[in-house]
Amino acid sequence: MSEQRFQAITASQQRNRIDIKEETLRSELFAKNVFNEHKMVQHLTKDALESVKGAILSGSKIDRKIADQVAEAMKAWAISMGATHYTHWFQPLTGATAEKHDAFFDLLPDGKALEKFGGRQLVQQEPDASSFPSGGIRNTFEARGYTAWDPTSPAFVYDTTLCIPTIFVSYTGEALDNKAPLLRALHAMDEAATAVAKYFDKNVSKVNATLGWEQEYFLIDKALAYSRPDILMTGRTLIGRSAAKGQQLDDHYFGVIPQRAIGFMKDLEQECTKLGIPVKTRHNEVAPNQFELAPVFEEANLAVDHNLLLMDVMEKVADKHHFKVLFHEKPFAGINGSGKHNNWSLATDTGVNLLSPGSTPMKNLQFLTFFINTIKAVDTYEELLRSSIASASNDHRLGANEAPPAILSIFIGKQLSDVLDELEGVSHGKLSPEEKTELKLNVVGKIPEILLDNTDRNRTSPFAFTGNKFEMRGVGSKTNCAKPMTILNTIVARQLKEFKKEVDELIDKKNLKKDEAIFNVLREYIKKSKRIRFDGDGYSEAWEKEAKRRKLSNNKSTPKALQILTAKKSLDLFKSMKVMSETEVRARQEVELEAYILHIQIEGRIYGELVYNHVIPSTIEYQNQVIKNVLGMKEIYGAAHMTFSDGQLAIIEQIATHVAELKKKTDAMTDARRKANKLVDTHKKAVAYCENVQPYFDQIRGHCDKLEQLVDNRSWPLTKYRELLFIK
Ligand code: ADP
Ligand code: MG
Repeated sequence: MSEQRFQAITASQQRNRIDIKEETLRSELFAKNVFNEHKMVQHLTKDALESVKGAILSGSKIDRKIADQVAEAMKAWAISMGATHYTHWFQPLTGATAEKHDAFFDLLPDGKALEKFGGRQLVQQEPDASSFPSGGIRNTFEARGYTAWDPTSPAFVYDTTLCIPTIFVSYTGEALDNKAPLLRALHAMDEAATAVAKYFDKNVSKVNATLGWEQEYFLIDKALAYSRPDILMTGRTLIGRSAAKGQQLDDHYFGVIPQRAIGFMKDLEQECTKLGIPVKTRHNEVAPNQFELAPVFEEANLAVDHNLLLMDVMEKVADKHHFKVLFHEKPFAGINGSGKHNNWSLATDTGVNLLSPGSTPMKNLQFLTFFINTIKAVDTYEELLRSSIASASNDHRLGANEAPPAILSIFIGKQLSDVLDELEGVSHGKLSPEEKTELKLNVVGKIPEILLDNTDRNRTSPFAFTGNKFEMRGVGSKTNCAKPMTILNTIVARQLKEFKKEVDELIDKKNLKKDEAIFNVLREYIKKSKRIRFDGDGYSEAWEKEAKRRKLSNNKSTPKALQILTAKKSLDLFKSMKVMSETEVRARQEVELEAYILHIQIEGRIYGELVYNHVIPSTIEYQNQVIKNVLGMKEIYGAAHMTFSDGQLAIIEQIATHVAELKKKTDAMTDARRKANKLVDTHKKAVAYCENVQPYFDQIRGHCDKLEQLVDNRSWPLTKYRELLFIK
């Protein structure tokens, strides 16, 4: 009998809720640990403050003297907050964050000790970066990379360390991280969107992309989670029979949050609030033990940093509350997986949300401009956008008939569809005064400030317009939002640039008025991008067929989805928008493919362990008991025992059949892995893992789950779904 499972159950049942008191108002706690503008005003000289603000607003350089001043002030503040160390905090291509702590403490030549932190340490560092994935950018003789301060994301004190958000680049200038390309994309977006926004308001001088993510996760008792080798090593259950009850009663969603979970959430939220993460919403999600947390939206770069920081804080706080957080997109078969919807919009420095309909026809034309350009961009680059959320773990959601399909489409609701249909009929060239009035009054003028039917949202749509923002729903719960945000902002920026060019041409060459030119270009965009609009059921088979007819991509696996990254169209896009060079794109593709291979490889190995070291031994142990019983029956009843042992014999045989198949499949899977490992080309290897190795997983799982059903509960070694999901 396996002890671990039962010990874990006992441990989980003895937990008490950790009570968390809210001592201050959240608004007073907010950003207490952040060196934000408010703190800078208190701690910096006027010159230094101006210089940092300039760097934040326009990306201007901060000179060394000023950097020294800023560092000195930051250090004094951080020490007053209890910090002893500092680190550059960056986002290598692993998808997570990285840090290396150095003490402020230093020795002078005369042996005296002091606390030191200067401009040099603030602005640039050289972590030993050779162990981070680089997709071949850094070959060994130039294995150096450096991190450089990103002043647009404020430094913060976490625990006892001053963390300075940085980018991570090679000495040859290529980005080795997820932040540098994002910053470049956001810059491209600012330029392109500001130029277009000026058609409507000359005072606009900056446009920020905004992001509000919704983080879904599972909370599982720590002892229970760690009792399973698969959860420990892969973050998900590779086998496990569904519990008799799952989510079919719909009793978890928005239900009363369990006591221990609420303790965790309060603690987490206070920590987040201190770190300046504006957490706002918490609720139960659809699956048992699944929850969601959402913040108030922020500028996209900051929001990305905050999401990464949040995930880190969540793990730490969960540990304190004896939980393990699962960020995996599909930790349990048969119930919902987890995503991270990315709500995205564009905001001007004049305080206008460019994707929000307004109160005048002009404001609505502005709204329609950004709205239609986004649709056009997604239509042109749908496959590229899909690639930005591809990962081995997210493959379990996309294309698995639950969360959004792998096919990208846009839901805009009936009201806006009607508006676009009408705009399609706008005359070519100059518009008559009557037509203009008609457009003003009855088409553009009729868009209500609050779009009612968008409250009736299509939950199956992967890219939905939700009243004043788009919501990208395919993003995985584990994914670094920088990836989809880089692509989305790049494609929309490119589209806006193109739009501006076309409109200006009509104004200059065809003598059209500004609004006439805009209507003319938008009309063509509406016509050209129709195939991406879909308001029906995204999960249905009919849509898959229809999407194929519309020539929309449907890449269900990561190796397939990643191919588009290096297509000429994509490389041209990244280059022309100055977001990534060809080397950088190829490196990313390589890193993502490698990650995919490793992921499947590790799962394959764990399957081997589970089958050989857990499932088969305990199954045989139980089978032996039954055999002993049958032999005993025979001893008592002689030949007549057959009438009484029917059931036992059937169980013995069923077990034997499953064990034989299980062994066969596991060995075949191991063999397929060996073959795949021999391949040198990364793409081919990833495809081999996808097509030849992974298909065994479900088959192996099928036999294991059948055995779980057959074997005595006391002999089953792995913590069961009902225990993982219903012990709260
Ligand atoms: P849901 O019903 O999908 O949970 P909410 O209205 O609660 O939607 O908003 C979800 C997320 O959208 C929140 O994180 C919120 O901050 C974000 N959001 C709202 N407006 C914007 C915006 N203009 N830009 C980006 N994100 C936004
Ligand atoms: Mg949402």
